[in-house]
Amino acid sequence: MNNTKIWLSSPHMGGNEQKYVQEAFDTNWVAPLGPNVSGFESDLEQYLGGHYPVAALSSGTAALHLALIMAGVTTGDEVICQSMTFSASANPIVYLGATPIFVDSEPVTWNICPQALEEAIKDRMAKGKKPKAIIAVHLYGMPFQVEAVVALARAYDIPLIEDSAEALGSHYKGQFCGTFGDFGVLSFNGNKIITTSGGGALVCRTTAQKDHAVFLATQARDAAPHYQHSHIGYNYRLSNICAGIGRGQMEVLNSHIALRRKMNEFYTNLFESKAGVRVFQEPSADYFCNFWLTAIVVDSAQCQGKNREDLRLALEAANIESRPLWKPMHLQPVFASAPYYGGKVAEQLFDDGLCLPSGSNLTDNDCERITRVINSF
Ligand SMILES: *Cc1c(COP(=O)(O)O)cnc(C)c1O
Repeated sequence: MNNTKIWLSSPHMGGNEQKYVQEAFDTNWVAPLGPNVSGFESDLEQYLGGHYPVAALSSGTAALHLALIMAGVTTGDEVICQSMTFSASANPIVYLGATPIFVDSEPVTWNICPQALEEAIKDRMAKGKKPKAIIAVHLYGMPFQVEAVVALARAYDIPLIEDSAEALGSHYKGQFCGTFGDFGVLSFNGNKIITTSGGGALVCRTTAQKDHAVFLATQARDAAPHYQHSHIGYNYRLSNICAGIGRGQMEVLNSHIALRRKMNEFYTNLFESKAGVRVFQEPSADYFCNFWLTAIVVDSAQCQGKNREDLRLALEAANIESRPLWKPMHLQPVFASAPYYGGKVAEQLFDDGLCLPSGSNLTDNDCERITRVINSF
């Protein structure tokens, strides 16, 4: 019996990636610029509907950093951030000497809770500082409550940065994630829905914003024959080699999303008859989730006292990777002193939630192995 490791989410090449990489070598564009970088940007722009200029960068974290800079965040400012997320959503706030203000999730999309968000904005303003930006996340590819969050950002006139690192291809009422806020952030890390081995992008509203992002990402060189600088710059541009992988991956993005959604369906059927386990699902037909990862919530009271950690260990014993949901930032030692608004929704999800293998490259045999472990558990 084949017992190779089943991963949560692993790279899945489409076939043409190496063709674009070969082209880069053949034309000697082995540099952080070139035809693959522009080609990948234009693929992304077209995919997102053609109205949002995209700057290809070295990582999603770099894109968040530049979005905060372009939103005017600087030393001593406060930035609101969804607490339940990967630390990369929050770290760039601290790079800038600003303070993260963490906000709880709501139980429907597991993303930033509009009520707690408004409470945080009002309280920070009452304490004398209006937040400089809001970072909201589409966790596991599930769109956040777009209308409510966008309305609050507009009402209080605070730039909205959409962390869409996990949500390329997800949409809400037909509009793609990454295009709702003032800036959108994408990631192409090795475990994401498409990968460039490492990479990211900033989705902008105007060409001038994209040009400024590229300027900052290429060491902020002024227009002069010598090296002249009036701003602090960064080395954040995407390599033309990595962008070649991205062009190949864009050709299979939609088919890979379909396969991830099939994995969600597989788990929905598998757990249908099992009391005490809820599979994370779209709340209504307005939501289209790429199901980057499928997650479940285990109610141990209904599972003879067994909890998500017991299930994780049972899967691990069978060489199957699974992982608890993101540990909320307000519970992380490094952010212990940051203010927090909300209740225990994110905390409860962290306690009871588990992400299951969700890759677009899982085989029928992999699914049988997963079924066997879960059924006997
Ligand atoms: C992966 C991820 C990032 C960071 O992207 P990198 O490309 O790895 O820097 C940011 N936010 C979220 C929610 C992510 O999942």
